[in-house]
Amino acid sequence: MLDTALKVINIIEDNSYEAYIVGGFVRDYIMGIKSNDVDITTNAKPKDLIKIFPNANIDNEVYGSVVIYFNNIRFEITTYRDDGVYFDNRHPDTINYVNELKIDLKRRDFTINTICIDKNGDIVDLLNSRSDINARIIRTVIDPLESFKIDSLRILRAIRFATTLNFELDKEVKEAIIQSRYLLKDLSINRKKSELDKIFSSPNIEVGIKLIKELGLVDVLYLDNINKIKPCSQVIGIWTVLNVDRIYPFTRNELNLMKDIRESIKNNPLAFTTLYYYDLYPCTVAGEILSIPKKDIMDNYRDMPIHKRSDIVIDSYDLINYLKIEDGPIISKLWKDLEIKLLNLEVNNSKEELLNLAKKIYTSSNLVKEDANETKTTG
Ligand code: ATP
Ligand code: MG
Repeated sequence: MLDTALKVINIIEDNSYEAYIVGGFVRDYIMGIKSNDVDITTNAKPKDLIKIFPNANIDNEVYGSVVIYFNNIRFEITTYRDDGVYFDNRHPDTINYVNELKIDLKRRDFTINTICIDKNGDIVDLLNSRSDINARIIRTVIDPLESFKIDSLRILRAIRFATTLNFELDKEVKEAIIQSRYLLKDLSINRKKSELDKIFSSPNIEVGIKLIKELGLVDVLYLDNINKIKPCSQVIGIWTVLNVDRIYPFTRNELNLMKDIRESIKNNPLAFTTLYYYDLYPCTVAGEILSIPKKDIMDNYRDMPIHKRSDIVIDSYDLINYLKIEDGPIISKLWKDLEIKLLNLEVNNSKEELLNLAKKIYTSSNLVKEDANETKTTG
């Protein structure tokens, strides 16, 4: 990945601009952590970059930067700038392009994110980034109060990096977060969610939870149930426990999944019926929340007599022919009864046993009566 990144910056340099790999990739590289993407900083403007990389696209999400893919690696190339005038603690009003790398580095969030690699592969460290990386400390580049006022997202980024990298927050940074936490009110819910996702997906989640509480962010982030969080390998399990479905943005699938996980918790994820009606995945997440070993859930899933309706050896035609009734709600009710009896091991999955049982249920319950009424009303 470094080789490809060096190729990209050398292409920019060959067009007589400066370019450096900057930020997360370099920080992670020094620490021996693998990165997914690479940030590049350059004095070439977007319009110049489009000429150098004709297939590049301007990323609307990341204001004024150009994204290219090279050997399937994502490069986000940003032109040197300083902080423009900010109108909402978040978006620069205008981009002030500048000519010097050091000025660009000074507008960045934390010292650990200002380290660079040049076209020869050498480290360029203008703001003592390396000593903070070695000391595992998160310090803002400028005064932290000033920094958070410019961009409140940095508050959550600080906690995210402390969590994922297992770094300490500098004392002044902590104090500034406590004083500036109200600014998070105006940060978009999507940005809050994406930082929280990273914090909650980290194996060090405990660090993040502790900081959120210690720095008084529970209310402003709507995390009233934070103390109920259980270690969970799936971030959706954390969100399920937090119960903020209507506050944070989730997809329809995620909302349904969270509902199923909650139902699985209520109905015991070890039960065959729960595994059958809610499926394995929600049950394993529910199991994690309830501290049930995954193996127990998997064993039970394997031992289920049926996993889906088509595993049952009879079908609706068999029922209709055998009971001499019409298809309709009665059949649906019978199916449900048969499924539950099968899952509770009260009947074997054999044609004879199931048809006999169906007949017994049909004749002894008031299904017959209902059937008659229905024929009357529908007929
Ligand atoms: P990762 O990619 O692992 O999430 P990163 O440090 O690369 O971490 P990015 O969001 O990719 O973070 O940003 C790239 C660089 O841009 C950062 O390293 C930092 O120098 C700068 N940066 C990003 N967000 C901000 C911000 N809100 N304020 C100031 N500088 C920022
Ligand atoms: Mg990055």
